[in-house]
Amino acid sequence: MPSDTSTTKTTPRSPIVTVLGHVDHGKTTLLDAIRQSNVASREAGGITQSIGASTVTTKEGKTITFLDTPGHALFSKMRSRGAKAADIAVLVVASDDGVKPQTKEAIKYIKEENIPFIVAFTKIDMPASLVERAIADMTAESVLLDGQGGDTPYVKVSGKTGEGVPDLLEMITLISEMNDISYDADSEIEGFVIETATNKRGPVATIVLKNGTLSVGDEVYSGDLKGKVKGLFDQYGESLKGIIAGEAAQVLGFSDLPPVGSLITDNQANAHSHAQKVKPSETLEIDDTMIPVVIKSSNAGSLEAILAHVSEDLAIVSASVGEVSESDVFVAKSTAANIYVFESSVPARVKKLARTEGVKIETFDVVYKLFERFDELVDANTEEVLGAAQILSEFPFNKQRVAGSKVVSGKISKSDQLVLMRNQEEIGRTGIKSMKKEKKDVESVASGEEFGLIMSHYLDFKPGDMIVSVRR
Ligand code: GDP
Repeated sequence: MPSDTSTTKTTPRSPIVTVLGHVDHGKTTLLDAIRQSNVASREAGGITQSIGASTVTTKEGKTITFLDTPGHALFSKMRSRGAKAADIAVLVVASDDGVKPQTKEAIKYIKEENIPFIVAFTKIDMPASLVERAIADMTAESVLLDGQGGDTPYVKVSGKTGEGVPDLLEMITLISEMNDISYDADSEIEGFVIETATNKRGPVATIVLKNGTLSVGDEVYSGDLKGKVKGLFDQYGESLKGIIAGEAAQVLGFSDLPPVGSLITDNQANAHSHAQKVKPSETLEIDDTMIPVVIKSSNAGSLEAILAHVSEDLAIVSASVGEVSESDVFVAKSTAANIYVFESSVPARVKKLARTEGVKIETFDVVYKLFERFDELVDANTEEVLGAAQILSEFPFNKQRVAGSKVVSGKISKSDQLVLMRNQEEIGRTGIKSMKKEKKDVESVASGEEFGLIMSHYLDFKPGDMIVSVRR
């Protein structure tokens, strides 16, 4: 039902808050301290599960919903999305470190989204804490703090000792009231998908609701996707009948995972106009210069961050959330791709299938390692091939293995890096220790010439293998 502003009754609701700031400045620690201060969880003895958001009840009985944003440097896309779904931002600045690149990024997002924010100077328990300097840094970034010629509120906190946490929560509540953060129970649903995952129950999406109410049985839309809410679960894993704006819940009932950051509404027309395309095109054209890859990730947030970071030289054949499946292996095989897995599992039967189909699966727990691997793939792909030779025979010389070889194209020089290939597969890489032509040391050999090669690094070559020389 469309809302009619002339008769709209609005009720104050819990503010939705995101915590932004530079890596290692204490966001996670602060969120933990906030959760520990949660009166509701202490009373219920509740153990918070990670659904992407948690609602905290303050001593005064006020509720605040925090989005758990990853603190990783590379998750800038997620941080900006957090800012969109949030009503209020807490900008974390470590008082011993001051303004850093991601602090500036966060300031930019906050200003672009035009959301009210509070600066939290963290780590005030540290001997190196220098709040005054951090304040001066903020002034230099044109963030004028309360009492410093501006009206941006700030608090001094320690995530370690919990000092200042009640002040921060009080400040959030105050800002929420000043900004009249409220909702209309009869309004259309307006929610944001902040996290998705596939678990035992099937596809689940964590939604923060900004307006309206969401109940089990409701029909909702996200882009072209339709869902009927079959179950709602809170941060303690408890089943709920419904939530109101300002709250978050994991929603069961989508046939497929909606993109993180997408709008959830009960108005189909609205959903279409907000449709986002984060899924890679299925009719992707791959040219020979690109490296085909299949990507699997444990949740949509990290998948999106990975996709945002991949080089244009990689052709993403498929990218999805969940454990690696048989069909991923077949897709990889049909496109000569390898499968790169971030934090997801690979069932034994899929591993076995991949082995029989000759598809390589590489798994990563650290996103940086995955990116390093992608960089390696791109580097290897952009290497300049200088020449190729075939190994024809093997003979010993001074207890070393000599590869009797013939150059089939280009040229091979002593300073090149050699790639040993067998059946188109890379076996290993080495430099050249010595190269002889008719018993004389040579610096290079050209197409058609035969030579004896001693590798500087032991590789178990066989006659029939190819040696490709690349510039290093
Ligand atoms: P994030 O990357 O912004 O989430 O930062 P973390 O919360 O992971 O904190 C980075 C490091 O700083 C960790 O070693 C924390 O233990 C430490 N730290 C965070 N907050 C405080 C604080 O208030 N006081 C002190 N002494 N250390 C802190």
